[in-house]
Amino acid sequence: MNRSVFVTGGNRGIGHAVARAFADDGDRVAVSHRTGSPPEGVLGVRADVTEPGALERALREAEEAHGPVEVLVANAGVTRDRPMLRMSDEDFDEVLRTNLTGSFAAVRAAVRSMLPARRGRIVLVSSVLGFLGAPGQTNYAASKAALPGLARSLAWELGDRGITVNVVAPGIIATDMTAALPDRRMGEVMRMTPLGRPGTVDDVVAAVRFLAGEEAGYITGAVLPVSGGLGMGL
Ligand code: NDP
Repeated sequence: MNRSVFVTGGNRGIGHAVARAFADDGDRVAVSHRTGSPPEGVLGVRADVTEPGALERALREAEEAHGPVEVLVANAGVTRDRPMLRMSDEDFDEVLRTNLTGSFAAVRAAVRSMLPARRGRIVLVSSVLGFLGAPGQTNYAASKAALPGLARSLAWELGDRGITVNVVAPGIIATDMTAALPDRRMGEVMRMTPLGRPGTVDDVVAAVRFLAGEEAGYITGAVLPVSGGLGMGL
């Protein structure tokens, strides 16, 4: 489609698959990556999303190569799971700084380019666990629950500029992030998942691609679960 697309955390997992899919569609794709490398054919820009100014610099570098960003996918995220009484301030802060503040920084950097163009698509990657809550994930769930609030406020601020802001909320998707889940916990979550199986990165790609596409032009402030029904109705 030949759009300028920027994805945070594009070196592995969901971000890698999303970047790959946009590139396959013919878009000009750049990813930020803290470690690792970008998918083949995709421009990689080093950035730790928790470093002040890093995303601003990364977006500008991507734009020098690809032109003003038209699609942003704020995907980079971490977990630091612990029961709350054993959770350090640092565990809490790191997850909030990555998942919430990092998304805010990416959005602010991208909106600077989208405003003059009077069009844009922003997709934030949340989690249904943000709405369900999960033991050991007070930091993660709080960070992910905040993203719809961020998106919906921005949907108001940017709606009359032709910019949509939406959220995808995956359930359990098979990536490095969930590979470490104990079998007992995976079993519990699967019993709460009507489709009874984890999703794949391609399931999330389909939702992101839709929300970033032309046909989703009248959708903003939406939260789209990609969860096999886990947490439906929340
Ligand atoms: P992975 O652990 O496979 O990938 C996480 C990505 O985020 C990596 O590219 C990682 O970079 C990047 N990242 C983490 N911290 C930083 C940082 N400080 N600066 C820059 N990049 C960073 O996870 P997934 O692909 O599964 O997750 C992608 C998103 O989807 C996350 O926001 C996650 O919360 C969300 N999600 C995932 C679900 C799942 O079941 N997998 C369910 C619901 C939501 P690096 O390689 O350098 O660490």
